[in-house]
Parts: sequence; C-alpha cells; structure tokens
Amino acid sequence: MAFLTHLECAKCGKTYDPNLIHNLCECGGPLLVRYDLKAAAAAVSPARLAGRPANLWRYREVLPVQNEANIVTLGEGMTPLLPLPRLGSAMGLPGLLLKDEGVNPTGTFKARGAATGISRAKELGIRAVAMPTNGNAGGAWASYGARAGIEVTLVMPVDAPAMSVLEATAVGARAYMVRGQITDAGAIVAKSAKAHGWFEAATLKEPYRIEGKKTMGYEIAEQMGWTLPDVILYPTGGGVGIIGIYKAILEMREMGWLPDSVKMPRLVAVQAEGCQPIVKAFNEGKDVSEKWENAETVAQGIRVPKALGDFLVLQAVRATGGTCVAVPDADTLWGLEQISRLEGAFICPEGASLVGAARNLLRDGWLQPDEKVLLLNTGAGIKYPDILRPELPVLEIGAAI
Ligand SMILES: *Cc1c(COP(=O)(O)O)cnc(C)c1O
Ligand SMILES: [Zn+2]
Repeated sequence: MAFLTHLECAKCGKTYDPNLIHNLCECGGPLLVRYDLKAAAAAVSPARLAGRPANLWRYREVLPVQNEANIVTLGEGMTPLLPLPRLGSAMGLPGLLLKDEGVNPTGTFKARGAATGISRAKELGIRAVAMPTNGNAGGAWASYGARAGIEVTLVMPVDAPAMSVLEATAVGARAYMVRGQITDAGAIVAKSAKAHGWFEAATLKEPYRIEGKKTMGYEIAEQMGWTLPDVILYPTGGGVGIIGIYKAILEMREMGWLPDSVKMPRLVAVQAEGCQPIVKAFNEGKDVSEKWENAETVAQGIRVPKALGDFLVLQAVRATGGTCVAVPDADTLWGLEQISRLEGAFICPEGASLVGAARNLLRDGWLQPDEKVLLLNTGAGIKYPDILRPELPVLEIGAAI
C-alpha cells in the first residue's frame, strides 16, 4: 500500500510531503492526494478486486493509508446500487438508479470520509481532532475517533439534527453548539484549535476525507460492470462527494480501469433553494461562490453557506457538461414521499432533494427519458426523526378497525 506519492494544491499546484501533517496550502487552497497510478494499476486489476471484502478498503491501492495496521473501520462502503423501477416509471425515467449510502455505519456516507480521515490521522500520530459539522460528519468522526482512541471535538449549529448530536456524544465526542451556521462553527474551531493541540479536520481543510468519499465513484463503476451512468445527481454542501467522484473517475481512466469508450457522466450539483451559493455562481458564470446569507433548508447536511471547495465543484460540473440546480424544500419533501412510498426507501432529505431535481430537469428537457440517471442518496431517513410528523389514530385496548 505504498502508492501515495504527495499532496498537491488544487489551486496553485504546489506539492507537499504526505508524511507530514498538513491542512491547507500556503496559498489557502485545499490539498488533494496524489498516487503513482501506473504502479497502482500494475499492482491490481479490476478482475482481482472481485474477491476482496465488500467495503471501501477493497480499493486500498488508491487510498492514502500506508500501513494496513492503521486502518480504522466499521465496515463502511460497498453500499447497494438499486434500480428504482416504480419511481422511475412514475417519473418517466425508467433508468433511474439509487446508490444508497444510508446503510453505512452511522447512517450516512460521512462514514467513508471519517474512515480514511481517522485512519490517516492515526497513521500520522494525531491524538485529537476538531471540526465544525451540521451533524452527520460529527457523528461519523466521533465514532471512528472512538474506535481509534483519537479525541474528537465538534462545534455545530444549535439546530443540528438531534440524532447526530445524540450519536456523537454517545460515542464520547466533546461537542459544542453555536447560534449560527456551520461557517460560524468553523470560525470557532479555527480560532481554538492551536491552543488545544487539535488537528483541524474541517471539510477539505483535511486532505484525506475526500479519499474515502471518492470510493463512491469506484463502487459505481465496479457495480455497473466498469461502465458509468449518463448522469449523477449529488446533494451538494461542501461538495466533497462530487469532487471525490470526479477525482475517482479521472483516476480510473488513468489506470485503464474505464475504457475510453465509457463516457464521463454529467455531474449535477443539487442544492437547496434556501442555500444555493454554488448554483448562483454557476448561473452567473463565476469560478467561486459568495457566502449565502440566512441559509435555511430541511436538508441540513447541504446547508453550507460557503464551501472551501466551491471552485472544484464548479470545475467538475462544467468539465462534465453537468449543471447546478436548486430545489425548494417543498419539492424535497415531495421527493421523500415519492421514493419512500414507491420504493420503500426512506432516505434522508438531502437525498430526497435529488428526486425533486430529477423531476425538474426532465421537465425542462435537460434529462432525456432513456438516460441512466443515478441519485446519490447520502444518508438514511431514520437519522432525521423530526422531518415527518405522522399523526396516528389512537385506539382503545380491544378496539377493532
Ligand atoms: C454532509 C452531507 C451532505 C453534503 O456532503 P458534501 O460532500 O459536503 O457536499 C449531503 N447529505 C448528507 C446527508 C450529509 O450529511
Ligand atoms: Zn496552493
């Protein structure tokens, strides 16, 4: 597992020694992990992956952990890729697919990033990490941190979903709340980390989380027999997942795991109408976003007013002929009801926003009915016990219905 070569700034290209602890480049850009992909391709082929355990570590040649003994795992990855025949035919998109990240440990795809991030932290001798979170990253990093014996400190908005707060504190994280957004939480962490000796593990301020999330791209290709869908819709907050999937596809191409005949999917960044900085930048032809004021949405995992990696999301979307769209909360709740009732998939609101987005994109002629459209659902509906409030009739004992 020695294919990791260096870290590279996504903005200015400056390179860094991966054996040392780094956050951002000196220019402020995020650092991406680079590998000797030729050597990795020579070491393992797609055919040889088949016999490996069904978790994300099956792609270990393109993951940053050097010594297998440092892997901290709860069994994350290799989540199901499901056809959605009933929803698809109701919507007029028979090729609709769901990659369901809700079955990961901690109930969201944040487990992937936490697995690689915490494993690498362990490998580099980091004893304590701190991060801002809207909830799910906190629950995941706290859980993997507990397993690794690494101390985790979280700062999250006061209205973070109760289930994530419960999860994070149950596994022993030190957690604080702020009357504000995740960006305000991030500022508090940045101000406090040095004095406490905490390594800052905020989205893209930490180089290894994206490596776990990129494995979603590897899995999609492997599960589709080393092909790809026409379109991938992704609920975008900090954007790590979409940046990661794009990175994975480029890596797979370079390694020859995807033939040139396999077309690049159009990547779609979906945001909430009440917090759509990247959509706005896309529509205005800009390369970076501006902070979104008074961000508000039921899909709290994508309530990110300003993302460090916004420019990378915009690059990936534009390079693939994709688009950025905003979905009103009403369409997200409509999507949640549709996918739950037609497919039995009780997914998270972030994922449900994709159903609304797909409907709108088909209506506008951006999606064609015969296309393979993959919805990347990032988490489980059961992590959001407050999102639906069913009122049930209460019966007396012995009553008949
Ligand atoms: C964090 C999160 C997102 C957004 O992920 P990014 O990769 O930061 O854009 C989407 N959905 C859920 C459920 C999340 O927890
Ligand atoms: Zn730089």
